[in-house]
Amino acid sequence: MTIAILALQGAFVEHGQVLDRLGVEHFEIRQKADLDRPFDGLILPGGESTTMRKLLHELELFEPLCKRIQDGLPVFGTCAGLILLAERVDGGAPCFGTMDIAARRNAYGRQLGSFHTDAEFSGLGTVPMTFIRAPYIAEAGKKAEILAEVDGRIVAARQGNQLVTAFHPELDEDEGVHRLFLSLVEGENKA
Ligand code: GLN
Repeated sequence: MTIAILALQGAFVEHGQVLDRLGVEHFEIRQKADLDRPFDGLILPGGESTTMRKLLHELELFEPLCKRIQDGLPVFGTCAGLILLAERVDGGAPCFGTMDIAARRNAYGRQLGSFHTDAEFSGLGTVPMTFIRAPYIAEAGKKAEILAEVDGRIVAARQGNQLVTAFHPELDEDEGVHRLFLSLVEGENKA
């Protein structure tokens, strides 16, 4: 199994470190030629979704990646990556728009830009959650399954092979959410 990590900007290195800990092969996508390498799943990291959206278009990565996601490529979006997958974006424009969720950008306000908590994640038990100028899911449509909530706000969801978290599991020691993603890639966890 090989996982591709979008590495245009943001916290992509940390995802690679988690995959190293789990003994999973991975490589970075920085340009169109990188798409020629075979991969079984894609990670969209945290960072700045507007910058990533712009670069995806400029580097001509948007269309081939969007098509592969629409065709069922397993994808895991954290924070800005969640925004890239959301069909509706409050405070920004949609990018891939493949998930039936509405994301609200910079949703926790300036005073609560970053925080850490532990909360229940469906099927995983209590998971450490680090939020950095995070979005939340203002609304999950019928196609999306809610996986975690913090203070009544949806912070993780899944739709088929697409998994998103508003928090950054790559910044904590717990590999549970990455393992869940890898089980989708292996096809063990069909919706
Ligand atoms: N605020 C960022 C955005 O809207 C997301 C923050 C993050 O990924 N840590 O793109």
